Amino acid sequence: MSVVVAVRVRPFNTREIGLNSQLCIDMDGTRTSLLDLNDPKKNKDFFFDYSFWSHDGFELNEEGLAIPVSDRYADQRAVYNQVGQQILDNAWLGYHCCLFAYGQTGAGKSYSMVGYGANKGIVPIACQEIFERIKLNDNPHLEQEVSCSMLEIYNETVQDLLIPVTKRPTGGLKIRQHQSLGFYVDGMSKHPVESYNDIEKIMDTGTQNRTVASTQMNACSSRAHTIIIIQFKQTEEKGDRKYEKLSIINLVDLAGSEKVAKTGATDKRLKEATNINLSLTTLGKVIQALADKEMGKNKNQVIPYRESCLTKILCNALGGNSKTLMICAVSPSNDNYEETLSTLRYADQAK
Ligand code: ADP
Repeated sequence: MSVVVAVRVRPFNTREIGLNSQLCIDMDGTRTSLLDLNDPKKNKDFFFDYSFWSHDGFELNEEGLAIPVSDRYADQRAVYNQVGQQILDNAWLGYHCCLFAYGQTGAGKSYSMVGYGANKGIVPIACQEIFERIKLNDNPHLEQEVSCSMLEIYNETVQDLLIPVTKRPTGGLKIRQHQSLGFYVDGMSKHPVESYNDIEKIMDTGTQNRTVASTQMNACSSRAHTIIIIQFKQTEEKGDRKYEKLSIINLVDLAGSEKVAKTGATDKRLKEATNINLSLTTLGKVIQALADKEMGKNKNQVIPYRESCLTKILCNALGGNSKTLMICAVSPSNDNYEETLSTLRYADQAK
């Protein structure tokens, strides 16, 4: 299975500007280089399907929208056009898809997925486009329906973000296995949507519920994985027969990939960190195993889906004809050299 991998570098943040941080990333075409500022011979080159530069080359207009002033700058629309659009193309063909945002906290995962203010990310642009494409359907025998769900995995516990915090089962939702359908989240709510406004409202609710819950648990939302699941069903009537095509689009904002420092981490924090790494490591292992299988290596290898909640939930959409895309978000600053190196290595292994 080949995963489409993109790397995106964000601009310096105010903290990094204050620290007078140095730029340690360079990009050219599909090449991303991690620069060793002391010894250029130790620069490390990586090659991915896409590299998105946004370290500079833009200005903010009065609405706060990032306007490119250099060809090098990849704005939200450019990222959507190259990465996001593929998801919908696949969904229309009836294939499942997964889009992951991976990287350390603060590297730009949410900016790429959801976006901030006027700078809408891949998820809202894709949702808008789903309904624009549906409007273009002029086949009276083809019905297209959309529904959405939103989950959070925190500490290997699955919560439905569209169920109010007070009504959620303690201990979260259970993942069960159906003999032929595979893993599913028992009790996950599905919300039919008929317009972009519908879906936007639902996602706002989910995001609000997420914040409330993480405050109550005294947790940081960057330690949780958030999954937006869009089900796109097409039913076509041909004569007296009905043909159904279902595509499940999984949009995943992964928990921060940073290592939690051992010093100062309480037992709870350590358990949390181990569980987050478990999902991220298992995801890496699953992708690797699928790639090996496709290349004819280790044919009898069992794909380790059941080792983490994240991979169980995504089981049906990883492998086979499904499309998997990953955006790896990195900081431009040499202060984050080690975390950036680890993100680029993860991305490299996913290719
Ligand atoms: P994460 O989700 O990885 O923790 P965020 O997406 O919240 O990180 O990004 C951290 C900060 O950096 C936010 O203030 C965001 O607006 C800014 N940022 C991230 N990526 C970009 C980008 N490509 N262009 C401009 N600002 C960005």
